[in-house]
Amino acid sequence: MDFLVLAQAFEKIEATPSRLEITAIFSELLKSAPPDISGKLVYLSQGSIAPAFEGIDLGMGEKFVIGAIASAYGYSRQEIEKKFKNEGDLGLVAAGLAESKRQTSLSVSTLTVEHVYDAFLKITKQSGAGSQAAKIKILVELLNSASALEAKYIVRFPTGKLRMGLGDPTILDALSRVVANDKSKREEIERAYNLCSDLGFVAMNIMSGRDEFLKNMKLTPLKPIRPALAERENSAEAIFDRLGECAVDSKYDGLRMQVHKDRGIVEIYSRKLEKITAMFPDIVREVKSRPYDSLIFEGEALAYSEEEGKYFSFQQLMQRKRKHGIGEKEGELPLIVHAFDMLYIDGADLTSFPYIDRRRKLESAFGSATSRQGKIRPSEMIIARSADEIERFFAHQTRAGLEGIIAKDLSMPYTAGARKFAWIKLKKSYGDMVDTIDAVIVGFFKGKGDRARLDFGGILAGAYNKETGNIETLARIGSGFSEDEMSDMRGQLEKIIMPKKPENVVSEIVPDKWVAPEIVITIAYDEITESPMHTCARTEKGKGLALRFPRMAGMRADKSVFDATTSEEVRRMYALSKKGRA
Ligand code: ATP
Repeated sequence: MDFLVLAQAFEKIEATPSRLEITAIFSELLKSAPPDISGKLVYLSQGSIAPAFEGIDLGMGEKFVIGAIASAYGYSRQEIEKKFKNEGDLGLVAAGLAESKRQTSLSVSTLTVEHVYDAFLKITKQSGAGSQAAKIKILVELLNSASALEAKYIVRFPTGKLRMGLGDPTILDALSRVVANDKSKREEIERAYNLCSDLGFVAMNIMSGRDEFLKNMKLTPLKPIRPALAERENSAEAIFDRLGECAVDSKYDGLRMQVHKDRGIVEIYSRKLEKITAMFPDIVREVKSRPYDSLIFEGEALAYSEEEGKYFSFQQLMQRKRKHGIGEKEGELPLIVHAFDMLYIDGADLTSFPYIDRRRKLESAFGSATSRQGKIRPSEMIIARSADEIERFFAHQTRAGLEGIIAKDLSMPYTAGARKFAWIKLKKSYGDMVDTIDAVIVGFFKGKGDRARLDFGGILAGAYNKETGNIETLARIGSGFSEDEMSDMRGQLEKIIMPKKPENVVSEIVPDKWVAPEIVITIAYDEITESPMHTCARTEKGKGLALRFPRMAGMRADKSVFDATTSEEVRRMYALSKKGRA
């Protein structure tokens, strides 16, 4: 398939704000492509060449791409930098230069999607000394064969600027349209996606007409499952009203991990499904030593001192993220993983089993919560037969310093990728009506007065609307930052400034600079209120929801945009706060 066809589809997608139209364009594109490249089309359309959990990065900064453009079109680096300053987009710079080149030369060969994909794959494989030069050479070769439109998108890949609002929900809808001409297959396709987190793989199978694929899709070790999420209630009574007799698990405030074993290979994935295996050599060793050929389980990892019976903070645990000195940190910060779900064991996919059966498998693999053996131990859990029992367990766990509880419906399957009432969380903080929201930064304001020096006066942030894929604003935050945090934040935002409002941001407020919506932060606030200015969960009457006295409470690097608090959740939190704690 000619790459030009893909570039033309990108161009159309970029020009339309209508998600319905984007879905139609993308489904037509899939239909017109040979089935075996549909996976590649999906990856490329999301600015990548593999599912996110593979962690494959093209790894070329703006500086190198500028070098490649200069060399492809015979300009100096300074000249390209100047053009970039004027245009604000390297894709447009390359397109302009490719256009003038076309007028003076006739030798443009045809690029195919496969060719471009393979070139990007080759870029990711370069490492060590001389790798940047090799990457630039590959990019220059691509640009030498590219038309103006192709050059625009080729350049946007390595700079991470291929943002067209083509998120997972749109691609899922497009696939359903391909199969059924409407949205009716969406749920089934989404289920397959939730089980493997690989949209390219799902697309490739669907487009190849593998009829049984959707029905037979099962969990596979080393392909992470999209995590189940918890709903919230604000009292033990409300939980018991919903679930009746239920399991009540301790809610630990650590790092969620999904651990996979497939014979000799162990991989660990974060909540965002990034590979974090290298941070946990001790856990890898322990999982390898377990007498199972294959396993997938989930748990919450915390730093824990057995002698002191004390947990350490999430921040301390994150120090393991440092690439070096892991062995040393292992000694200083002994880890414990509170395993809370078993999803796969020795070839059997347990995701459709009721929770209680999965829990039994978990305990038969790792012993009881009180066993003091090994670093992997089941979470502390009780079966509650009354609201009172839930309340007592909650009080006991929060007194012991834990965050709260998660009640679990005994009969529910694992609800991959969905926030459902199969799990209901009750946190200590809900009692005082101080909860937090994980929101996406969409823009920032320049500083005035004291802050002029830092060129930073606060941020505009929003919730993720799962239905539309848009970010809807709910807070303008100017406090809660230390001076260091402000300059740090300013530096991070600088790298993702967008020349205009990103298509998938819905906002009435115009910040001084828009940014690509990709950084998630935790916001503390006093209450949720209705607002005519903010667009979160906006009703037909034009009333949105906003946070009163919002303040920065930390970064949520473990969350991607799709994991941010959704508009629907904010609406529910608003409703819960009006009801008050029972
Ligand atoms: P929060 O910010 O409250 O942790 P979240 O948005 O990260 O919430 P939720 O689905 O709302 O995620 O809450 C479930 C989270 O609680 C899980 O992602 C997991 O990290 C953590 N957790 C701690 N203990 C447990 C447990 N026993 N069972 C399930 N999840 C647990």
